[in-house]
Amino acid sequence: MTKKLKVATVSLAGCFGCHMSFLDIDERLLELIEHIEFDRSPLTDIKTVGECDLGLIEGGLCNAENVEVLRAFRAACKTLVAVGACAINGGLPAQRNHLPLRPLLEAVYPGGVPNDPELPLLLNQVHPIHEVVQVDYSLPGCPPSADAFWQFLTDLMAGRTPRLVPRQMHYD
Ligand code: SF4
Repeated sequence: MTKKLKVATVSLAGCFGCHMSFLDIDERLLELIEHIEFDRSPLTDIKTVGECDLGLIEGGLCNAENVEVLRAFRAACKTLVAVGACAINGGLPAQRNHLPLRPLLEAVYPGGVPNDPELPLLLNQVHPIHEVVQVDYSLPGCPPSADAFWQFLTDLMAGRTPRLVPRQMHYD
């Protein structure tokens, strides 16, 4: 039996919509699970990423914890994929980038901005992941379609360079 691909997934500054779209491959999950095994992911209860063949990153970087997790994924994963608009260009969360952070926080938290030391430090701007680590592939869309996930993963599992057909390449 060929070795299963080890796959980790994470949502940084994202909405989990990309993960939901991934799950929309529906019954093809049964076939997928024959060929891959999940490491850290919202689909498992594994808290730290181990050595993996593939890391799928949803969301950009809005705080220091996002950066730390992204660096850990880059160190652990042979192939790293920016999944969806937020990971690729910051997406919706990056709409705050043209506003100064402090007044924005004060408007959102009129009763006092939370400052518990347990909370990760917010970055002044939301960044796409390629600004911090090298990214091997991008899977565009908000979110990428289930068919795009399937095409991408089946290409990788077959040892082919992933190629999306034009109808799967959209940025909305
Ligand atoms: S790309 Fe769209 S679906 Fe994916 S995390 Fe960002 S907002 Fe959500």
